[in-house]
Amino acid sequence: MALAGLSGPPRYAAAAAPPKVTKAAAHYQDYPNDGQMCGMCKFYIPPGGSPGAGMMGGTMGPEMMAAGTCQIVEGSISPRGWCQFYRPLSG
Ligand code: SF4
Repeated sequence: MALAGLSGPPRYAAAAAPPKVTKAAAHYQDYPNDGQMCGMCKFYIPPGGSPGAGMMGGTMGPEMMAAGTCQIVEGSISPRGWCQFYRPLSG
């Protein structure tokens, strides 16, 4: 099987977590899609919070809408963002 499309050095050094996909590969956008958003996605990790808790699982207050991270997509993730891997918390 060809490995076309893979580039860059392997990323299995320090962390045990699997590599994440880029925002471009996930078709990430920093605004909701038809009412769906990262803050309601099971893969969203709010700042100071835990995965699968949604935006309510992190710090309460204004920080609640601060950028968090994602279990799948790399980089800073807006709770109001969205990508093609969206899965609802209850789904
Ligand atoms: S999988 Fe996509 S929609 Fe879900 S939190 Fe990550 S970036 Fe947002």
